[in-house]
Amino acid sequence: MNLYLGIDFGTSGARGVVIDEEASYIQAEVRYPFQDSPAALTPEIWQEALFVLVEQIPNQLRREIKAIAINGTSSTVLLVDAAGNPTDAPLLYNDARGSLVLEHLRSIVPPNHTVLSATSSLTKLLWMRQQPSFSEATYFLHQADWLAFLLHGQLGISDYHNALKLGYDVEKLKYPEWLENLQISIQLPKVLTPGTPIAELRSEIADKFGLRRDCLVCAGTTDSIAAFLASGAKLPGEAVTSLGSTLVLKLLSRTRVEDARYGIYSHRLGDLWLTGGASNTGGAVLKQFFTNAELESLSREIDGSKASDLDYYPLLKVGDRFPINDPNLPPRLSPRPDNPVEFLHGLLESIARIEARGYELLQQMGADKLSRVYTAGGGAANETWTAIRVRHLQVSVVASVYTEAAYGTALLAMAGGRRGEE
Ligand code: ADP
Repeated sequence: MNLYLGIDFGTSGARGVVIDEEASYIQAEVRYPFQDSPAALTPEIWQEALFVLVEQIPNQLRREIKAIAINGTSSTVLLVDAAGNPTDAPLLYNDARGSLVLEHLRSIVPPNHTVLSATSSLTKLLWMRQQPSFSEATYFLHQADWLAFLLHGQLGISDYHNALKLGYDVEKLKYPEWLENLQISIQLPKVLTPGTPIAELRSEIADKFGLRRDCLVCAGTTDSIAAFLASGAKLPGEAVTSLGSTLVLKLLSRTRVEDARYGIYSHRLGDLWLTGGASNTGGAVLKQFFTNAELESLSREIDGSKASDLDYYPLLKVGDRFPINDPNLPPRLSPRPDNPVEFLHGLLESIARIEARGYELLQQMGADKLSRVYTAGGGAANETWTAIRVRHLQVSVVASVYTEAAYGTALLAMAGGRRGEE
């Protein structure tokens, strides 16, 4: 039997999922929760997490693993020397120190480009270039690239999901000329299609952990794409809404859509494009007013087939980008009825309205017509909310088949493992 291992490095911990050829059954699921905040984590702790995860997989399963892929958090990056040793602390996904070089970048990069944000990988690289330790570095890598290197031993390899925010042109499959013109004296990674087999495991790693010597390590992806892959959405028009602390929409499309003003960009997914946007509205606002138990019990008292007239724009603080691009947009949470059931109905209805408006915007920009919405995140299990969302979206709304990013990454490993056999 061939098995496939997907490993997810998230913000609160690392997880591994082992699947079989059918992918319908999870053979093993292993976890390594981080004790420290992400900012306190070092590459040594990532490395320890990776190997502890592998050790937790039962021996008899380890021997059957044909391919492995890893996803990291998007735009978590580091510099390493010629032997692959980190030369400085990594910069994490949300590290905005690079805002100091944004002005300089704006003068070089095409207007409204995805890399023009304080936290993009390219902004981080330009900031790193100004640090004294830069001269010791040979390669610039993403978290997933470095972790995969620990397994296969080859430096300077990435995938086009991680490399999007480095400025890699995912349509032409090359680094653009303006990026070459920056003349950064460092080896940028060679970029592969996610899931491409890179190499077999280093033999010492295979022997140490009882893995197969012919086990393939495949190019990885980012955490949010991995979660999309896990959802079950496959066809153009299918989408995944994440109803977590914030509201994140992803719609699979034959057309690429981009608009930096709304924070809309497209990841490449084979021949298709994964378009999407993120709003600051979402569960974090619900959490301000209700406990999870209250959300469940009060939701049961709402008739989801009836529309609430309350028209809110639930935000924790001023400003949203998608589907309304207005940094001064005030939270709108009044009038607030005395009855908490009515208040919650208004909140759920309003977030559903914003979700529908988001999908409308993506379609107006050229994305395929919405046909079905999978749902992940804390709000996915709320049936009343689903009924309200169906009214607004006018398509079927289902829970994601799987929500674990590690499962999505295991699917990538499976695709790569099969390709390796051809
Ligand atoms: P995160 O984005 O932080 O990972 P989760 O996906 O874990 O978030 O979702 C947490 C959010 O889900 C919380 O903000 C909470 O308010 C919301 N939530 C939890 N239970 C429900 C529910 N039954 N109905 C609606 N929202 C819920």
